[in-house]
Amino acid sequence: MKIRYGVNTCDHNPNGNEILIHFTKACPNKCSFCIDKTNVGVNTKKPDIDAIIKTLNIYKDKVKNISISGGEPFVFIDELETLVNWIKENTSLNILIFTSVPNICYDKKEQFFNILDKCDSIQISLQHYSEVISDRIRNSKTIFFRNDFYKEIIKHCGSEKIIGSINIIKPYFKTKYDIIRNVCLFNQLGFKNIKICEMFDADDVYIDIPKMLKIKMNNPFSWGCKTEYTNTYDWVYNGKPFDGHLYIKRSCFYRTNHQKANIWDFIKMCTRWMFAKKYFFAVLHENGEIAPYWI
Ligand code: SF4
Repeated sequence: MKIRYGVNTCDHNPNGNEILIHFTKACPNKCSFCIDKTNVGVNTKKPDIDAIIKTLNIYKDKVKNISISGGEPFVFIDELETLVNWIKENTSLNILIFTSVPNICYDKKEQFFNILDKCDSIQISLQHYSEVISDRIRNSKTIFFRNDFYKEIIKHCGSEKIIGSINIIKPYFKTKYDIIRNVCLFNQLGFKNIKICEMFDADDVYIDIPKMLKIKMNNPFSWGCKTEYTNTYDWVYNGKPFDGHLYIKRSCFYRTNHQKANIWDFIKMCTRWMFAKKYFFAVLHENGEIAPYWI
């Protein structure tokens, strides 16, 4: 799946028409900023595979891409495997999967890799290069060496289809150097596509990335919240320069109280109905239903 940046997903989907499957709200982690923490959900954590496939079958010709997220999709690894197999056998849709690589992925490594083999794109939530801090952020205990396992995943899948995402949050990132160090170390591990993200809906941990990097960026809402950042010539750690693609995902004033809307945002609000491209996007829940307001 080709990922384009310098765009807002709320204007038009940069990757084409899409169904996002909210596979489960269950997750073994307890990140303080989790958007699923307060999500009441659809009264079930366990995905109803038959119902999901039935709905997917109805809409499959309307879309190009399927994203599978949670919660943590691998919590229900058997059901996930059934779904991914069905998509690959019955459609030509691209699959993007989001995961925090919980312990079950290591315990059931073979099954985990079988599923990854069928996905076109994998987004791994890395949190922090220090495995101790990473566990602290997740509020959970990892039973394997994360960074070693990431290397194994990259070796198995190839680095092109993997994106490592790092949430830049308080109190673990205090300076520009903390960001550069994390990005470079994961890059040296083998990640070629790295996304650093501002945290939305969680004002207490929010960090303004351009401010911390001491760079100027245009307003995320009016100019695009997803941007490829190429000015990394001085991003070096242990004598090794960063040699991948770096993306910055920012939070606009819609999602955080730390951003103030400006005149460009106002102009865009007034005119976007004329210019925003129409696309099909739907969230398919774990019970197989698509909420009408999401289509
Ligand atoms: S890993 Fe993701 S889904 Fe799980 S608790 Fe953290 S933010 Fe929520």
